[in-house]
Amino acid sequence: MKKEKAIVVFSGGQDSTTCLFWALEQFTDVSVLIFDYGQRHKNEIKVAKSIAAEAGVRAKVIDLQVLSQLNANALTNPTIAIEEGQEGDLPNTFVPGRNHLFLSFAAVVAKDLGAKHIITGVCETDFSGYPDCRDVFVKSLNVTLNLAMNEQFVIHTPLMWLNKEETWAMADQLGKLRFIREKTLTCYEGVIGDGCGRCPACKLRMNGLQAYLQKGEASV
Ligand SMILES: [Zn+2]
Repeated sequence: MKKEKAIVVFSGGQDSTTCLFWALEQFTDVSVLIFDYGQRHKNEIKVAKSIAAEAGVRAKVIDLQVLSQLNANALTNPTIAIEEGQEGDLPNTFVPGRNHLFLSFAAVVAKDLGAKHIITGVCETDFSGYPDCRDVFVKSLNVTLNLAMNEQFVIHTPLMWLNKEETWAMADQLGKLRFIREKTLTCYEGVIGDGCGRCPACKLRMNGLQAYLQKGEASV
């Protein structure tokens, strides 16, 4: 384990919670950064804070409400129904460049905290059209942020090449499958744990979990 500081970009969902437990195995000093950007469900921030408390890490909440003023999208506007993108289209939960913004804000906070490591749960495998979730973008931004702030940040993306089944396997290896299944919030309808079962996020999460459990390698 490295005696270094790390911050995790954290939403209280399956992916970032898996990243949090991953970070806790890698670094001695871990805290989480939660963005309040006018999520459809305020519950998300409450859930994220309580997971951080249970994991024994500090949580910093940053107000990014400005995001909801930038465009019309289903994540932040409750009057817009969530639709899956048609082939080649982005889903209408899209806030363009959101991860770019999150990571850039995270780097400023990291500098303030003296943290060298920034961890994000972005993933290219379940790529739903978000260009700033791609590995090439994260690597490019890492260079840019280091130049911008004269720092040597390392952005870690432990889930980058994993599919949802493999992300569940990682949760299990970390001894946190049950915790992540029961306490995290991924559902677009704001239902904790296994969720509503109908929205795209729930379907992706549940399909991955079923695939992993069917393999019979799960420890719980
Ligand atoms: Zn759902």
